[in-house]
Amino acid sequence: MSNYTDRSITCKDCKLDFIFSAGEQEFYETKGFQDPARCKTCRDARKIAKQVKEAVSAGESNTTSSQETVAQFWNEEGEEQPHRQRRRR
Ligand SMILES: [Zn+2]
Repeated sequence: MSNYTDRSITCKDCKLDFIFSAGEQEFYETKGFQDPARCKTCRDARKIAKQVKEAVSAGESNTTSSQETVAQFWNEEGEEQPHRQRRRR
């Protein structure tokens, strides 16, 4: 059994110190991963950003449908105004 101790690492992205816990170090060691350079928040943010990027590039044919959704949203917003004007006496 190796003895791991919690370590403090400065995140590359937000420059804040985060704890790389003993348990995580053991996990990284067994997986053969390098020490994390970023805190969990920044890693999650990057993961999501990557997923969004992949989804956008993978579904280029889907861009029209998302544009339609946006158009629908704006139409719904626009329809509210005549109602409000009618209520005004
Ligand atoms: Zn960070």
